[in-house]
Amino acid sequence: MGQSISLLGSTGSIGRQSLDVIAACGMRAAALTAHRDEARLEEQCRRFRPILAVMTDERAAAGLRVRLADTGIRVASGPEGLLEAAALPEAGTVITAVVGIAGLKPTLAAIQAHKRIALANKETLVCAGELVMDAAQAHGVDIVPVDSEHSAIFQCLQGCTDRGEVHRLILTASGGPFYGYTPEQLRGVTLEQALKHPNWSMGAKITVDSATLMNKGLEFIEAMRLYRLPPEKISVVIHRASIIHSLVEYCDHAVLAQLGTPDMRLPIQYALTWPARTAAVAPPLDLLSCPPLTFAPPDEEAFPCLALAKEAARTGGTATAVLNGANEEAVGRFLAGEIGFCDIPALVERVLAAVPAVQAPSLADILEADRQARAALRRLLPGIPSN
Ligand code: NAD
Ligand code: MG
Repeated sequence: MGQSISLLGSTGSIGRQSLDVIAACGMRAAALTAHRDEARLEEQCRRFRPILAVMTDERAAAGLRVRLADTGIRVASGPEGLLEAAALPEAGTVITAVVGIAGLKPTLAAIQAHKRIALANKETLVCAGELVMDAAQAHGVDIVPVDSEHSAIFQCLQGCTDRGEVHRLILTASGGPFYGYTPEQLRGVTLEQALKHPNWSMGAKITVDSATLMNKGLEFIEAMRLYRLPPEKISVVIHRASIIHSLVEYCDHAVLAQLGTPDMRLPIQYALTWPARTAAVAPPLDLLSCPPLTFAPPDEEAFPCLALAKEAARTGGTATAVLNGANEEAVGRFLAGEIGFCDIPALVERVLAAVPAVQAPSLADILEADRQARAALRRLLPGIPSN
């Protein structure tokens, strides 16, 4: 097929699965980037022979240069290297699989360079969705979602030419490892438990987000931005089996759903081949051996992150960047063992109350909101007793 791809975040969970799809579909990886994992990036470079390899960590980049000295592969470094990979002339498509707001500037650079965006990095749309979607529209660039729920919705919207016909998007949520827990039970959970997702194997940050339900909150905002719909047209339902990846309810009450095994390679593949479909990389769904397909409302009292995200979405402007910055910082502290699980929503709530939202923000306003949110969270930390 010969499609040429720049893969930002190739050593992560989405990055590695993207390389499976690239190999299986006969595509080319023109650029690979990672933060620190030199050994894995070297291995990927030797297999996929990109034109450009980038390590955002300077010391790791120096190490990779030595490791790849015999290959002729150019090695770049730092945030500028990531921007270079995003705009690489030889790539037609950019997969954004880095984690966090670090994906924002490279996504904008890829849009300005007229690449198709296969978007996994949801934090970009949470922080700067309107800006990014406007830029994509202005440059005539397609943003095709990789996130399984948004890919499901994207698939269910194929053939819909009038967004006014959409009554509601229904995002499904697995509920995570702590589904059914009371607030008291949640106070005792450990990092190890939070990192055990029942259906998906993912990077550490999104795994914790799935356990707090912040992931569904971020996805709620991601859906608003991608499909330009108001919050009242998006709902969330707990579906433990992760077989129905999401649904669209139309104005005539027809409900379309996309089903499949929980395997990210399917939405990655579709983001790369759309509007075509090509032979499967993910395994088939056997309906007769599926677990029961059940549905329940989310418990926003025990899992306040979802409600906080909806509230930030309604406030608009930089509120969603504040939510995201506070959450990234809090999850980092939780992963480092510095705070407890229930401190995450408590801190995010306090930061949202402390940092005022700026409406119709510029990129500079968004980056400043992210900085302020992180600083506000750090100021709150000494007062947190560990649970
Ligand atoms: P991960 O932690 O496994 O991988 C992250 C990748 O980004 C790695 O290659 C890492 O080297 C790189 N990276 C980390 N920090 C960076 C920085 N500051 N600058 C540049 N590169 C950096 O994460 P993941 O689970 O693959 O998730 C990636 C993105 O995709 C996230 O935004 C996540 O929300 C989204 N996503 C993931 C899944 C999944 O199944 N894993 C599903 C849907 C959406
Ligand atoms: Mg998802």
